[in-house]
Amino acid sequence: MGDEMDKSYVVGVDLGGTKILTALADLEGNIIAKCKVPTEAKQGKDRIFANIKKTIYNVLEEAKIDMKAVKGIGLGSPGPLDVKTGLIVNPPNLDLENVDVLAELSEFKVPVFLENDANTATLAEKWFGAGKDVSDLIYITISTGIGAGVIIDNKIVHGVSSGAGEVGHTTLDPHSDLQCGCGNYGCFEVLASGTALGRMGQEAVKSGKDTLIAQLVDDLAEINGATVAEAAYKGDQLAQEIIDEIANYLGIGLANLINNFNPEKIIIGGGVIASWDLFEAKVKETVQARALDFLAEATTITTAQLGSDVGAKGAVATALVNLDLL
Ligand SMILES: [Zn+2]
Repeated sequence: MGDEMDKSYVVGVDLGGTKILTALADLEGNIIAKCKVPTEAKQGKDRIFANIKKTIYNVLEEAKIDMKAVKGIGLGSPGPLDVKTGLIVNPPNLDLENVDVLAELSEFKVPVFLENDANTATLAEKWFGAGKDVSDLIYITISTGIGAGVIIDNKIVHGVSSGAGEVGHTTLDPHSDLQCGCGNYGCFEVLASGTALGRMGQEAVKSGKDTLIAQLVDDLAEINGATVAEAAYKGDQLAQEIIDEIANYLGIGLANLINNFNPEKIIIGGGVIASWDLFEAKVKETVQARALDFLAEATTITTAQLGSDVGAKGAVATALVNLDLL
C-alpha cells in the first residue's frame, strides 16, 4: 500500500496533425493508461490545448492517479519548435504560432518538456525499442516525408535552433528538377520517400512501360508507394527496379549520416518498413560502397520495434530524460 502511494508517474503527449495520443506511464516507461482524441488542428490554439488537457485528465482518471504523483509532462510536436524555451514556432500542419507550451500547461504545476516528433520517436526507440543496447544511434523515418533524430552519447543532438536532424532536406542531387516542399530541389525527401516511390510508379505507368502497377488500381492517381511494393512482391520487374533506384538514394543518404555521425545503429521507421525486405539488400550494398569502410563496419542498420504509439512513448521518454530518470 505504501509503495503504491509513493509511486511516481509521468505523462507523455503526442501532438500530431490529426490526433493527440496521451499516455500515463510509470518511471520505467510502462504505460498505465492511454487516451486518443482528434487534434482539431485547424481550430486554433485554445481548442488544441483544451483537447490536450482533456486527454491528460482522462488518463489520470482512468488510472485513478492524482496529479500530485506526476513528476512531469513530455510533449512531442511537429516542428519547428524551440526545446529550450518550450515554444512551438509554426508547424505547417497545425494552426499554432509561437505558442508557449509551458504557459499553456501551467495548471498542472509540473515541469513541461517540449520535443519535436522525430526526436520523440528517436528517444522511444533508444530507451524502449531497437536502440536499447547502444548509446550512439540515428532513427530515420521514411514515409510521405523523411525525418530523423540523432543520439550521441545517449543525448539527442538539438543544435542551436532545435533543428538538427533535418536530413530529409539535405541535397542528394543538385541537378534534380524535382522540387521539395521546402522549396529546394533534389532533397533526400523528394528523391527517396514513399511519395517519391508513388510518383515514380505513376510515371512508369504513364510512359506505357510493361508493369503490373496499373492493374492494382482503378485510377492512376491512386498509385502510391504501397502499390509499387505490392507489384514488386508479385514479381513485377519494373517495380523492383524503381525500388532499387529509391534504395540507392536511401543508401547514399544513410552513408552520409554514417560518415557524419559514426552511429552504432541506424533504426529505420515509418511506412517503408512494411516492405523493407524489398529495399534492404540494395540499401546495404550502397552503404558499403559509399560510407568509409571502418564506419560502415561499425554500423548496424535495423528496423524500428515500436508501433503506432511510438510518439506517446517518446513523449514519456522526453519527460523521463529531462527529469534525469533515464
Ligand atoms: Zn526539402
